[in-house]
Amino acid sequence: MQNKHLFLLLPAMLGICIWTCSSTPASDLTNNPSIQVMSNSNSTPSDTDKVVKSKEEWAKCLTTEEYRVLRDHGTERAFTGEFWDHHDKGVYTCAGCGLELFGSETKFDSGTGWPSYFAPYDKNNVEISRDNSLGMLREEVHCRRCGGHLGHVFDDGPRPTGKRYCINSISMDFKKK
Ligand SMILES: [Zn+2]
Repeated sequence: MQNKHLFLLLPAMLGICIWTCSSTPASDLTNNPSIQVMSNSNSTPSDTDKVVKSKEEWAKCLTTEEYRVLRDHGTERAFTGEFWDHHDKGVYTCAGCGLELFGSETKFDSGTGWPSYFAPYDKNNVEISRDNSLGMLREEVHCRRCGGHLGHVFDDGPRPTGKRYCINSISMDFKKK
């Protein structure tokens, strides 16, 4: 009898595993979720939730080029990305975790070949850090929730902020409004 039950259970369990996450090995599903979200009920979710994944987990859910830019601080070639000449109304979200990063109302044509914005969608959704690579000091912009590298911010943007957030298209998705 025991064997018979097992025989019936196995296909059902397999089905559940495939339905839950096609890209995560079944052994990870029990007590090792690939996305760890830490919440603080006193704050807004975008402020405190973090998406934490290992290198291997990021490699599984991002394309090679997305991984190179978001996780390895790469830069896409100018005038090659999806959004440098994109003018629809909506919100640009993080390709790593979906957090809303930039709104179309702050986008401007910088002539650089990268999508450029004079302000983030919400100042709590991006973080700035010092980047000393390539022999010059630059301010790096990354997603506050998953830490993904987005691009750099410069002080030669238009009014009202004077900032130019120079962002890789591949670091973002777009939600039309
Ligand atoms: Zn993110």
